Amino acid sequence: MKTIAIIGGGPIGCYVGKLLAKAGYNVNIFEEHSTIGRPVQCTGIISKNLKDIVPVDSFVINKVKGATFYSKHKKFELHTNKMQAYIVDRCKMDKWFAQQAKKAGAKILFNHNFQSFSRQKNGKLKLKFENNKNFVCDILIGADGPVSRVAKSAKLFGKRDFLVGIQARVKGKFNPDHVEVYLGSICPDFFAWVVPESSTRARIGLATKANTNKKFKKFLSMFPNLDILEYQGGLIPMYKEKKVQKKNVYLVGDAAMQVKATTGGGVVTGLLAAKALADSIVRKKSYESKLKKLNRELKITRMIRKILNKSSDKKYNALLELANKPKIKKALLKHGDMDFPTKFVFKILFKEPRLLRFFF
Ligand SMILES: Cc1cc2nc3c(=O)[nH]c(=O)nc-3n(C[C@H](O)[C@H](O)[C@H](O)COP(=O)(O)OP(=O)(O)OC[C@H]3O[C@@H](n4cnc5c(N)ncnc54)[C@H](O)[C@@H]3O)c2cc1C
Repeated sequence: MKTIAIIGGGPIGCYVGKLLAKAGYNVNIFEEHSTIGRPVQCTGIISKNLKDIVPVDSFVINKVKGATFYSKHKKFELHTNKMQAYIVDRCKMDKWFAQQAKKAGAKILFNHNFQSFSRQKNGKLKLKFENNKNFVCDILIGADGPVSRVAKSAKLFGKRDFLVGIQARVKGKFNPDHVEVYLGSICPDFFAWVVPESSTRARIGLATKANTNKKFKKFLSMFPNLDILEYQGGLIPMYKEKKVQKKNVYLVGDAAMQVKATTGGGVVTGLLAAKALADSIVRKKSYESKLKKLNRELKITRMIRKILNKSSDKKYNALLELANKPKIKKALLKHGDMDFPTKFVFKILFKEPRLLRFFF
């Protein structure tokens, strides 16, 4: 059976590892750290679609039912009585994925910092790790996050855009059912958030292209009387259509920029891509053609993000005012989906054509 090397023991690497080990491949997951799940670099809000991919009970710590959006002068609340998204303990979640991979027969090798690979005459790949360890495999998968060394070594990295995200886990008083989203000049390249873990704990943060620290401090100062428990942060790659395969080398998850540019969420999209990748290897089909549907959604998120990033506070105020119309709220509640914008964007534009003004 073929030997597969996966670089990166994050959720996406471990999930693709599990699927391939289950299909009988000799799977080896190489992780640069000495443990799984640390450092945490995620807000941990994941759409309800997650439960259609994996069972979630062991790592979900809260379930939110709605969101409040703020622009400079307007507010838009979307309340439901049904769960809309999970808040996960990201460290527990990553460990769960690693356990699943191991159960299926994958090996996880810690303290293996991948450096580069070279092709051998027989088509196999020779991987080089820090401290001169080597490994030979038939297939290499880069699930090594936003600055993927596999992508660089395969010359698949190219020009990429990133946001820098920072958040604080804090102690205070919060509505456990509601996420808060702050739009406009407070965070011009993206948005700022308050994501509750419970009624006494939340993750407060934002992501931007530049001056992240300064903007984060200003945003955090809007919430006095908080106890800071810890700071977390990391890079969020913005989706761009690029090659994600070169012969027997594949990229998946953040390494392949499979992240929604609207929300910065990459867990569900990365898991869907991992499924497509495992399936394409097992069935010897094209990975890139299996990604077509997901890429279409990701492309739309990038288009929406570009439009949003050009918006002034005035435009955001107008957008939230329109969103408050009962027919829009109703349509959002009925069709809204954090992962698949094509499911609702056109329906909502059809219901309220004045929203088009926002786009031009
Ligand atoms: C601030 C912030 C907030 C976010 N919030 C959310 C959110 O709320 N919801 C959501 O869905 N997504 C969120 N994301 C995105 C999400 O975290 C990623 O999309 C997701 O982690 C991608 O998983 P992955 O397995 O592809 O990569 P990662 O989770 O980055 O895992 C990559 C793994 O590869 C290892 N690695 C890297 N380089 C090497 C190397 N050279 N050798 C060996 N190992 C290596 C790393 O140590 C790591 O374990 C957020 C991201 C950030 C930065």
